[in-house]
Amino acid sequence: MNFLIMGPPGAGKGTQAKILAEKYNFMHLSTGDMLRHEIDNKSEIGLKAKNYMNQGFLVPDDVLLSIMENTLTSLKGIGIILDGFPRTIPQAEGLEEIFQKLDLQIDYVINVHVDKDILINRLTNRAKNSGRSDDTKEIIINRQKVYSELTEPLIQFYKDQLLTINGDGTVEEVTQRILEKIQ
Ligand code: ADP
Repeated sequence: MNFLIMGPPGAGKGTQAKILAEKYNFMHLSTGDMLRHEIDNKSEIGLKAKNYMNQGFLVPDDVLLSIMENTLTSLKGIGIILDGFPRTIPQAEGLEEIFQKLDLQIDYVINVHVDKDILINRLTNRAKNSGRSDDTKEIIINRQKVYSELTEPLIQFYKDQLLTINGDGTVEEVTQRILEKIQ
């Protein structure tokens, strides 16, 4: 089974993805984590990605699509939960091609919804401990803007498969809401 989890920055999709991956024994693929790993290793991809990420912009689609194609090809057959990908319509179209090639399908698209002002608050609080260089107020606002312009249209793209979950509440409450929808 393959899951896709989406939502604006700060919605808690990474936390929920981790919990679901453990529960169902899936591979959790977070493109944010994968990119940060490339940056730590000072790889060619990491060098390319760093400036975009630090400013809260998206890393170019071709970079993400090539990372995902390689990763998904090597994992063929293993259940996955994709966290943070796709983030644009071209990425979603590219993902469809990759899935077709590998004879895979997306079973559930989970959309974690949280209102904008709650998100900004959560992220500014997280910024105090995260140590992430893209967690400053100005960049947080930019990431929300990038989300509205480039990622939100995916809600329409996946409308037939979409399970929208209210992401306001405790981690456990949100997990419970997801489990109720997928069981
Ligand atoms: P958040 O969910 O808080 O935005 P992530 O860890 O998912 O955090 O992503 C951090 C950054 O990594 C993004 O702001 C973006 O620059 C980059 N990134 C992650 N996934 C993608 C993607 N699919 N396409 C382009 N850039 C990405």
